[in-house]
Amino acid sequence: MKLEIKNLTKAFGGVRAIDDVSLTFPSGSLSAVIGPNGAGKSTFFNLISGAFPADAGQVLLDSEDVIRLSKNDRMRRGIGRAFQVASCFPTMTVEENLMAAVTAHAGRWGDLSRRFPPIGVRERAGEMMELAGLTHVADVEAAILSHGDQKLLDIALALALEPKVLLLDEPTAGMGPEERWRMIRRVRDLWEQRQLTLVFIEHDMDIVFQVASTIRVLCYGRVLAEGTPSEIRNNQAVIDAYLGTEEAQAE
Ligand code: ADP
Ligand code: MG
Repeated sequence: MKLEIKNLTKAFGGVRAIDDVSLTFPSGSLSAVIGPNGAGKSTFFNLISGAFPADAGQVLLDSEDVIRLSKNDRMRRGIGRAFQVASCFPTMTVEENLMAAVTAHAGRWGDLSRRFPPIGVRERAGEMMELAGLTHVADVEAAILSHGDQKLLDIALALALEPKVLLLDEPTAGMGPEERWRMIRRVRDLWEQRQLTLVFIEHDMDIVFQVASTIRVLCYGRVLAEGTPSEIRNNQAVIDAYLGTEEAQAE
């Protein structure tokens, strides 16, 4: 599914967090969004998913504008994003959490009162665990998973809703170098297997340059640059605004 953003704008008080941003993410593409802290990256995702209302602009899914739709309606149209850990059920196991998500998603088609779990739910939950690499912790309570596995559960929960476009806001945050690579390889595999239009925000430039085919750079709420990893690496404006800063080097 193609995701097209046109003239998207959002201010918080006097701060233009997203300022007339237009970007196209082709169907099946894998893109990274980068930029300094406060550049507006998370806000950009929040406006696409419908978590916040935009002041102006369009969010087009295969040319259909969803900007006036609620968060849930956009989800039904195919926009997915990783849940916050807090939104899963901490005392339920990984498998139970995924069965709940699959059931909720299936609920819009079937009558749930007849049979629980509905036919196929356990199988679908199993498929999501397989995709996310969580099969070995199927019976572990969500609350006691490792940080990395909790993040994977977030992603698996998002996948249970069958997104066509998946937004991941810093999927490797808080992880050590080894765990980061494990996570990002998973994300890449998911993208390949599900043919998703995947957009991820990431601070680790090694990961960005190796994994993303296209990179979009935000700065002060505006698009500073977009291009391939080598184009971005050699873009003087990007080096000046972001790559050359101590903050980026310290990561
Ligand atoms: P990034 O994810 O790139 O670090 P954010 O999108 O979180 O940046 O923030 C962009 C700007 O918008 C910042 O100045 C931030 O303080 C502001 N901002 C983000 N969310 C809110 C909010 N809910 N209320 C007020 N200001 C916000
Ligand atoms: Mg952010």
